[in-house]
Amino acid sequence: MKTSIATVTVSGTLPTKLAAIAAAGFDGIEIFEQDFLASDFTPAEVGRMVRDHGLQITLFQPFRDFEALPEPHRSRAFARAERKFELMNQLGTDLMLVCSSVHPAAMGGIDRMAQDFRDLGDLAAKHGVRVGYEALCWGRHVFDHRDAWEVVRRADHPQVGLILDSFHTLARRIDPDTIRAIPGDRIFFVQLADAPAIPMDLLYWSRHFRNMPGEGDLDVTGFMRAVAATGYDGPLSLEIFNDQFRAGLPRMVAQDGHRSLIALMDSVRRAEPALTSAAPIPASLPAPAPVSHVEFIEFATTPAEAPALEALLATAGFARAGAHVSKPVTLWRQGGANVLVNTGEAGFTHSTYLTHGTTVSEIALMVPDAAAAFARARGLLAQPHGEEPAAGELRIPAIRGVGGSVLRLLDEGADLAGIWQVDFAASPPEPTDDPGAGITGIDHIGQTMAYDEMLSWSLFYTAIFDAQKAPMVDVADPDGLVRSQAIWAGGLRVTLNGAEARHTLAGRFIEDSFGASVQHVAFSSRDIFATAEALAARGFAVLRIGVNYYADMQARFGLPDALVRRMQTAQIMYDEDERGQFFQLYSQPREDGFFFEIVQRDGDYQGYGASNAPFRIAAQKRAARPVGMPRR
Ligand code: MG
Ligand code: MG
Repeated sequence: MKTSIATVTVSGTLPTKLAAIAAAGFDGIEIFEQDFLASDFTPAEVGRMVRDHGLQITLFQPFRDFEALPEPHRSRAFARAERKFELMNQLGTDLMLVCSSVHPAAMGGIDRMAQDFRDLGDLAAKHGVRVGYEALCWGRHVFDHRDAWEVVRRADHPQVGLILDSFHTLARRIDPDTIRAIPGDRIFFVQLADAPAIPMDLLYWSRHFRNMPGEGDLDVTGFMRAVAATGYDGPLSLEIFNDQFRAGLPRMVAQDGHRSLIALMDSVRRAEPALTSAAPIPASLPAPAPVSHVEFIEFATTPAEAPALEALLATAGFARAGAHVSKPVTLWRQGGANVLVNTGEAGFTHSTYLTHGTTVSEIALMVPDAAAAFARARGLLAQPHGEEPAAGELRIPAIRGVGGSVLRLLDEGADLAGIWQVDFAASPPEPTDDPGAGITGIDHIGQTMAYDEMLSWSLFYTAIFDAQKAPMVDVADPDGLVRSQAIWAGGLRVTLNGAEARHTLAGRFIEDSFGASVQHVAFSSRDIFATAEALAARGFAVLRIGVNYYADMQARFGLPDALVRRMQTAQIMYDEDERGQFFQLYSQPREDGFFFEIVQRDGDYQGYGASNAPFRIAAQKRAARPVGMPRR
């Protein structure tokens, strides 16, 4: 598979873009004319720079408003084209994209357009270049790849081929399987982009909201399966116009792009196994696997700050269950929830503490095959994390996740009791006098990040694991908007919360903790009312929810008075959907903004109480600000 990306996708000057694109592992670039014009380099210099990065120019674009024009526009269009062909020779590229015309004078007529392309093909041949025709979904007469193909077919010229763009096909809901009838050798180039399903003007949607395959809601896999079926073996190129990407970090955007292409071609290969010989595919990756459950989370902290954290865990019903054989790490346990508290003053965990303060530095995921999950993650460009294991310690593969934290991959086949016994001298879970508070495990993990990192991390999870994502929801904070995206992969549930405004709870958290990290951990309970009572007895500082919430909630769901009174007494919030019921309660936020949540899911409720979030956030802000104190 030859991979390519349009220079317009990545932010920065041309040299910055090229460095980022090359570092991400692409083979080539589509050079967007404006990026060339805006630079100070001659065409020959640009060509040399591109080649010096080990890249090739796969496409020169765009050439607009060419076909079906009356004179004198027609002659001028040909003169323009000839100048671009000369420029392409200097740049060192042989393919130009001609997008379907939006010119007010364009007359239409398939045969007229075909004749124009036949003549353009002759001109291109003289310059040793080729042209590809792309149907813009807002084109004046041609806005469907089937019509563009008919023009190319009738032009019947070896220098003239078709360019397909997943956005233009899928945005118009054209069945991508119509591509299967096109000969692969007549397709000169394939551009890929996804987009969120937002109803809006096609041109505006395309210019501002495209994103990487897998980041949006379009069936890019279905599109690419059809392309692969034609036998097309040319470049696969990302052409993404996205306001966030244009302002984002070039290397991060470029790496996400390469990751998205690898994941896309991996899913094509799985869906079309018969095409493996013809389709341009990457080396095979292990299949994406769901996570069985979160085995533990680890906090990075210090001897000075650990007591407050451990006191919070104790009031939440956790008991100290062991200590690491060689490191200053203690194990706190309740039901199936394991929490490690690491006060080490060297190594990765400590540097995490130095960056973020007391924070979750590691999440351990139980997967069916840790070696396979690690190989897949590596194939998808995840950064490995390796600290040399101390003598007697087990070697467990790990990758870097959100905010530089670690995702450790534990193997289901491994002797788990053994791991705890070897590393922690912890006895297997044994009956204890401490009944805890009825917490049974980890339900979900809330990671807070800048809004413009959200797509990146949702792609990370959905590409590596067998994961699904819920539609993004907007959560109103008193001081701005927070976006929330839930992702689940079997027993791993994460909510990604993206802050756009600095004064939102999430925004303050990012500032205070110097970047993305875990802001809350939600534990599960089978009887949240009993848990609430046990927590109260232990002195757990529960978040006080406003009284108006309960009156409204009762009216919304028509719940019995007694139940609502019980919830209000325990400060439990409620949600339901057609599949089940959901109860949740929160701790008071720590000074650094971190908090615990406890949830009970009944039936098959799959959400996170998003409708409660504005009231919870308002309550947390009240709790974080002493009464009478002005807002910071
Ligand atoms: Mg395009
Ligand atoms: Mg939550």
